[in-house]
Amino acid sequence: MSKYIRQQLMLPGPTPIPESVLQELSAPMIGHRSAGWAELFEDVEAKVKWVFQTQNDVMSISGSGSGGLEAAVVNTLSPGDKVLALEIGVFGERFSTIAEAYGAQVDRLQFEFGTAVDLDLLEARLAADTNKEIKAVLVTHNETSTSVLNPLESIAKLVKSHGALILVDAISSLVSTNLPVDKWDLDVVVGGSQKAFMIPPGLAFVTFSDRAWEAYKSSTMPKFYFDFKYYRDYRAKSQTPWTPPITLFFGLKESLRLMQEEGLPQLFKRHEQMMKATRAGVQALGFSLFVPDENIASRAVTGIVAPEGMDAEAIRKGMLDDHHIVLAGGQRALKGKLIRVGHLGYQGLPDILSTLAALEIVMKKMGHSVELGSAVAAAQQTVFNQ
Ligand SMILES: *Cc1c(COP(=O)(O)O)cnc(C)c1O
Repeated sequence: MSKYIRQQLMLPGPTPIPESVLQELSAPMIGHRSAGWAELFEDVEAKVKWVFQTQNDVMSISGSGSGGLEAAVVNTLSPGDKVLALEIGVFGERFSTIAEAYGAQVDRLQFEFGTAVDLDLLEARLAADTNKEIKAVLVTHNETSTSVLNPLESIAKLVKSHGALILVDAISSLVSTNLPVDKWDLDVVVGGSQKAFMIPPGLAFVTFSDRAWEAYKSSTMPKFYFDFKYYRDYRAKSQTPWTPPITLFFGLKESLRLMQEEGLPQLFKRHEQMMKATRAGVQALGFSLFVPDENIASRAVTGIVAPEGMDAEAIRKGMLDDHHIVLAGGQRALKGKLIRVGHLGYQGLPDILSTLAALEIVMKKMGHSVELGSAVAAAQQTVFNQ
């Protein structure tokens, strides 16, 4: 396919980029020790804190989201520390693997893919830790591999009352889902640029509470590039310790402006509307939802299972070849079974409707019985259901 044909990216990252942001991404370079940079950095940082709803320090790191997760781990923990990891999917497993790579003693509390953390089980596991040896709890807010949204506020309450640090992978939930970092008293929260921030991959954000800074003092995991000491020192000069991806900051300034124009309540509402429309539409086509309970359904991505006898990968191929619509597949054990429809960032109801319209054609061509317009109509109807 020619790269000049516009693809409709219905992925849970990378996501489409607004035209005004694309323009900023071609701005001429500036020096990262200049007054112009300092002004840009201050502006962007204040708005990133607004997204996280926090007054905590926010470190902007060059790297993908996983780099942010690694930074979260190495700046709070020491080899041998006991860590409780709540795993509901592939990204939860990755968080654990990072902590283990640096020598943490990770206790993996695993839940079936497609479900959320069971609060009773978590409470029991914490209660069993009578000597309060668990130093930190690792949790994924929105598990992108299964399209499950964890009940983070309740999880955080349990963890905080036990006295452990909470480290949150919020890479795919930020902007799409309400996440008041200060109100929920979250110690370390990680975001990534290529999800709902509407800019290309390459930046991670990590919020760091006072308690996290306390933990930092005694943390002995090896670190250099991600050592927050340097970030804090250079922050005082409105700089980053190493050369930042300046171009991404140009784009981020504009994407944050767009977000502020829309406002957090409307951002969350738009993503919820896309989730509802997607869920209604695919069900009308005979797909089943990987996460039937809407309360724990991701606002950023919807996992769907093809009707009996239909090949999920062939459906994805039809969408790509005939309609240039890119859907994500399943990861690991879910490969070939799951289709994931991303709907976050620079996307709205029209993108869901066009995706469903194309899906109707693809399914009908593959021999599935489809009444054209039925999925689109079911999605449209959600606008009127309240
Ligand atoms: C995208 C994503 C990541 C980060 O992946 P990178 O490829 O390193 O950016 C981590 N966790 C979740 C939940 C994600 O959705």
